[in-house]
Amino acid sequence: MKPRLLVLSLGGTITMVPSAEGGITPKLGAEELVASVPALADAAEIEARSPFRLPSPSLTPEDLVAVAGEIDAAFAAGFDGAVVIQGTDTIEESAFILDLLVRGDQPVVVTGAMRGADAPGADGPANLLSAVRVAAAPEARGLGTLAVLNYDIHAARFVQKSHTALPSAFLSPLVGPIGTMIEGRPRFYVTPRRNPCLPHDVGAPAPVALLKCPMGNDTRLLGGLAGLGYAGAVIEGMGAGHVHADAAPVLGELARAMPVVLASRVMTGPVFTRTYGYPGAEIDLLDRGLLAAGYLSGLKARLLLALALRGGTDRKALEAAFAPYA
Ligand code: ASP
Repeated sequence: MKPRLLVLSLGGTITMVPSAEGGITPKLGAEELVASVPALADAAEIEARSPFRLPSPSLTPEDLVAVAGEIDAAFAAGFDGAVVIQGTDTIEESAFILDLLVRGDQPVVVTGAMRGADAPGADGPANLLSAVRVAAAPEARGLGTLAVLNYDIHAARFVQKSHTALPSAFLSPLVGPIGTMIEGRPRFYVTPRRNPCLPHDVGAPAPVALLKCPMGNDTRLLGGLAGLGYAGAVIEGMGAGHVHADAAPVLGELARAMPVVLASRVMTGPVFTRTYGYPGAEIDLLDRGLLAAGYLSGLKARLLLALALRGGTDRKALEAAFAPYA
């Protein structure tokens, strides 16, 4: 019997065709996308739904919490896996939210396309076929949420969009892809251990600010953050987690008002915790109450903090949420 898969389309370039107003806009739904790739019928029995038809910059964390709920319900009803189709701009964030929230061992695969549905050499059909084949594969069970594009299979916690235009835009700069589609079937070369899930039925993600630290001693944005209604903040420091010396006391004060997580603005690599001793370096900032993001990018650290804060601001609980990513 063929595996039964839920295919959810949220929009994105893979669904876009030229509009009368100019430019490409989301139009196609999951059923049309699935119908356009006849080989999908050999891989799985598919139920196609289109909860959104949005460009992915207009998706919100709340939308993805709802998608996680729909996938959990489908798994409880007997589906063997799920594929989420969406815009590539926010795949690294959506995939990580699903990785944090969807509990079952059934594969969840996120895909999209860098070229519009009508473009010569459109990559959407091949990406959708690969995503379905991965979601249907028993070897993909228990690996958490995966992102599949351009024949590469990435783990959600590592994947990043790394180019604005190329079909090869998706990389996992820290570890590389965990597998590849070869001759129409997934080959996994490493199997990451699954990190703990967070509950997804405890309310909306908390508002968390994300700020990147540029060179200089301008602390106006950092200083103004506490009054803006955020429940937490993620700071992308320089290098291994460093800021201008003048920013350190401002961050210390912010950390007294809300949980503040220290990530890095560098493309990849964990923030340090015990190497540099100068004012504004990681030892100083952690002593002032910041939490280390580990190897999570600022984008992913923001989502983990936003979901973890639904359980309250207990320091130990927040440290435990970030500990698997150290
Ligand atoms: N701007 C588009 C989106 O994220 C890009 C894409 O899908 O590739 O919806």
